[in-house]
Amino acid sequence: MCAVVTPAGSWTGRCYDRFMSLQMFGIPVSRGVAIGRAVLVASSRVDVAHYFIEPAQVEREIARLLQARDAVAAELGGLQRDLPEDAPAELSALLDVHLMLLHDEALTGATSQWVHERHYNAEWALSAQLEVLARHFDDMENDYLRERKADLEQVVERLLRVLMHDSSAVPPSIGVNPRDFAGEDPLVLVANDIAPADMLQFKRSVFTGFVTDVGGKTSHTAIVARSLDIPAVVGAREASRIIRQDDWVVIDGDAGVVIVDPSSIVLEEYRFRQRQSELERVRLTRLRHTPAVTLDGERVELFANIELPGDAAAALEAGAVGVGLFRSEFLFMNRTDDLPGEDEQYQAYCAVVDAMKGLPVTIRTVDIGADKPLDRMSAHELRHEHALNPALGLRAIRWSLSEPSMFRQQLRAILRASAHGQVRLLVPMLAHESEIRGTFDALARAKQQLTESGRAFGDVQVGAMIEVPAAALMIDRFLDAFDFVSLGTNDLIQYTLAIDRADEAVAHLYDPWHPAVLELVARTIRAARARGRAVSVCGEMAGDPSFTSVLLAMGLRSFSMHPSQIAAIKQQILRTDTRRLSDLLLGARSDAPTFTPLRNGGGVAATPPRP
Ligand code: PEP
Ligand code: MG
Repeated sequence: MCAVVTPAGSWTGRCYDRFMSLQMFGIPVSRGVAIGRAVLVASSRVDVAHYFIEPAQVEREIARLLQARDAVAAELGGLQRDLPEDAPAELSALLDVHLMLLHDEALTGATSQWVHERHYNAEWALSAQLEVLARHFDDMENDYLRERKADLEQVVERLLRVLMHDSSAVPPSIGVNPRDFAGEDPLVLVANDIAPADMLQFKRSVFTGFVTDVGGKTSHTAIVARSLDIPAVVGAREASRIIRQDDWVVIDGDAGVVIVDPSSIVLEEYRFRQRQSELERVRLTRLRHTPAVTLDGERVELFANIELPGDAAAALEAGAVGVGLFRSEFLFMNRTDDLPGEDEQYQAYCAVVDAMKGLPVTIRTVDIGADKPLDRMSAHELRHEHALNPALGLRAIRWSLSEPSMFRQQLRAILRASAHGQVRLLVPMLAHESEIRGTFDALARAKQQLTESGRAFGDVQVGAMIEVPAAALMIDRFLDAFDFVSLGTNDLIQYTLAIDRADEAVAHLYDPWHPAVLELVARTIRAARARGRAVSVCGEMAGDPSFTSVLLAMGLRSFSMHPSQIAAIKQQILRTDTRRLSDLLLGARSDAPTFTPLRNGGGVAATPPRP
């Protein structure tokens, strides 16, 4: 194999190995090895929904496609008819070309095949076929013909726009299993980018791995991929351009390597590694019922992060002691018309509370914005689309406070769910005193409304996410106001280092080991412990085994992560003696004013392992 080994995320590139298969490098975001045939989710200028349809809906979906073709034909015919007399002859000829492309069997006929055979929705099928045809055009010798690719793209764009405004669209069906119709071969997903909302559509399908051209290690797309527990590589730059539909692909989610058309020797090697990781996974599941206690008897709580109520089952199965982070915003995604109202939210929260059988459930108020926009049709998102820098824009609590009635609606739903079990409320991205006050005012008003309408609610603990450096620096104020704090290290790193967590171009600078980040984490944990307040980490750092001993050394005893990571972290904890960690971090000592990064020396006995 090609022997180039890259530090994760430091660069991406490609080379042929000596067996002449193609290798690409990206950022490893979810461990393990996947081998399968590529399913390409093509990128397009129009934001296209990708989902599988039920077999029974195939004919209806093809009819939609043909209706869209007729509508575009009528549109082009109308344009042609209305051309002014003195319009250049080329214009009419161009419209002829568009009409010809539109009626070509290679477009609608082949697109119908995708719907028929793969059960893609019409928009996805169309963009998949565009990708195939575009490659043919690229390969053409003749300049004139090659340039017709732009015409084809315009025709497809017209079709997509008609389809997107078609109210008879079959709704996404999350449970559809592509293996039902894709034969026996395992499938891997290849895309330029997959929005977190689209990832949800794939949550219960059978892709065994995925690769994207863009994205960072803690982008929400990567986080959802980790929750699927399938090997994944992001930031592989040209993957979706180079890989073709049905190519055999190996995804090495440990090293961030993607191999296209692997030779039989390479395949054999990866199959061996696949079997090894499967054995390791089975071995780790035996720890499910073992309490997370260190060698010196320190008890550690391992909570689960979930995105949808259905994930609660996996949390229990993995042995979580509760839900430490329910990212409620995922209930708000993939909604074309309305957003979930109070009753719908209440049902969803109750479903989690019931599924967790008396264990605590921490519901975070919506963290909409940045890389988790609302559906493209909503007025709210239109505002986001124009935000110059959405990561610094109207997201999370800022968004909630700007939509007071929706915020109270969510608070009421969470409060009502608390009548059924242990519910904790968590507020994302707080930084300002005014936001703290705004949150508690809204909560008081929501409680008052429930009391007035005779609705029951329980005692809800209220926590703040510490994910903006300002919050970590004024941690005492947060500890005055809140019952507990939870460190959102994904954002804390992003905002401390001024690195967009979703941007692969700066992914190499997204450094969780940066002394400034560790200092903020350590001081938050130290301050919370000193005040006797519960503190946990719910960012990806909590589920990264290379951080476990560092966080334990800082005094952390509560971690929240995706269920699939719980066993590996538990294994680390079971092997740790916290008394031997005391030298690991100078900053973890209460008398040390600042954190001293040990990997830079500083008179310490041990160095935190770098991933
Ligand atoms: C975080 O920022 O660490 C976090 C847990 O929240 P999210 O990843 O959803 O932004
Ligand atoms: Mg966050």
